[in-house]
Amino acid sequence: MSPLDYDRTHIWHPYASLGNPPPVHLAKSASGVEIELADGSKLIDAVSSWWCVAHGHNHPAIVDAVRRQSERLCHVMFGGFTHEPAIQLAEKLAAFAPPGLDRVFFADSGSISVEVAAKMAVQYQNALGHPEKNKLVALKGGYHGDTSLCMALSDPDGMHTLFKGVMTRHFFAEKPAIPTHGVWNPADAESLRTLLAAHAGEVAALICEPVFQAANAMNFYHPGYLREMRRLCDDYGILLIFDEIAAGCCRTGPRWAHARAGITPDIMTVGKALTGGHLTLAATLASAKVADAISNGSPGAFMHGPTYMANPLACAAACASLDLFAQGDYEAKVARIERQFTEGLAPLRGRPNVRDVRVLGAVGVVEVGRLPAAADIERVIRTHGVWLRPFCNFIYAMPPLVSDSRTVTRIVEALGDLASAPPGPPVEGDFHE
Ligand SMILES: *Cc1c(COP(=O)(O)O)cnc(C)c1O
Repeated sequence: MSPLDYDRTHIWHPYASLGNPPPVHLAKSASGVEIELADGSKLIDAVSSWWCVAHGHNHPAIVDAVRRQSERLCHVMFGGFTHEPAIQLAEKLAAFAPPGLDRVFFADSGSISVEVAAKMAVQYQNALGHPEKNKLVALKGGYHGDTSLCMALSDPDGMHTLFKGVMTRHFFAEKPAIPTHGVWNPADAESLRTLLAAHAGEVAALICEPVFQAANAMNFYHPGYLREMRRLCDDYGILLIFDEIAAGCCRTGPRWAHARAGITPDIMTVGKALTGGHLTLAATLASAKVADAISNGSPGAFMHGPTYMANPLACAAACASLDLFAQGDYEAKVARIERQFTEGLAPLRGRPNVRDVRVLGAVGVVEVGRLPAAADIERVIRTHGVWLRPFCNFIYAMPPLVSDSRTVTRIVEALGDLASAPPGPPVEGDFHE
């Protein structure tokens, strides 16, 4: 059996059937913006391998940091031990994060960091004598991960409806509709206000992906919405959680997408680009107010602790990645990609299958009536040598932030070709990312 045949018959891929698996490419190596396949051909990674690879694949500084750390200490349990990479990373994260979010919990994936954020909010309310405040309010169109609590906070009509039976019911406000650069109107948050007026007494926290709802909606919304959230949280004694896993680390321009709103959350999750896409690591950052209340409550301990918590190799990778963010002018890099996407994708408006074109930072989205057929998608990928992974009715690119203008030009051409392909057959169910 060839390795690819073994893969087809034995290994699940994300959101894929094992009985009728979609084709996969055999990756051999990767460097910079390109992935090299077993047959020697190369694809530009216009998806940053699910939005992680900010500085390019196998970045020498990150690879070197991991190699050096691996020679000393690959892992040690974080219960009863600590180590330099974790301490350094906590300090670097505190410097990189907005002021006041300097208490850190290291998680092993984005989903876990969201679970941790939600548990912090519940323990916080409990410590303040409000055990009844144990629900969260999330936004329709949102996505927060695949574990059960995260699914329960993601769009209720999205891809997780199958698991409704095992999920706790939380509250959902309508998807924010005013675009990032539109004119703010408080009416956009009316459903949130109504919901809190009725249920604030049961609510521990509000959670959202600030400004950029990624995996479920590819929606860029107005920072005024976040200011409204902050105000409501303060009024009702509710915590504000920003999930910056997709939007953070300069993806939309500023380090953190919520910086546009000029307010800070009480808890923030960071993942994806944290290690520059080299190892899995996420973090939940909290304010002293949150940490102190939890510590002064009962049991005082924060009740979470994954086996691979603060893995030293992952922490070393993240330290090197944050150094790159601190040294390089990533806002300027992203602004350049944004300009090129804005100019390059504008002509696609008005094509028969195109419903909308929108760009924010290093995110370019072409919303179509229906995605092209799988064979057409594969043809465009191969012809242009550009890896794209459209989902639902979104053809999009989120390239490495270090992509040069020639790379972005090739990505824009591939997106244009894909957006011009005939719509394919309707697809059953939703596809993730
Ligand atoms: C990807 C993502 C997650 C989940 O992260 P994983 O590392 O896949 O568990 C959570 N929130 C947002 C906003 C994401 O984009």
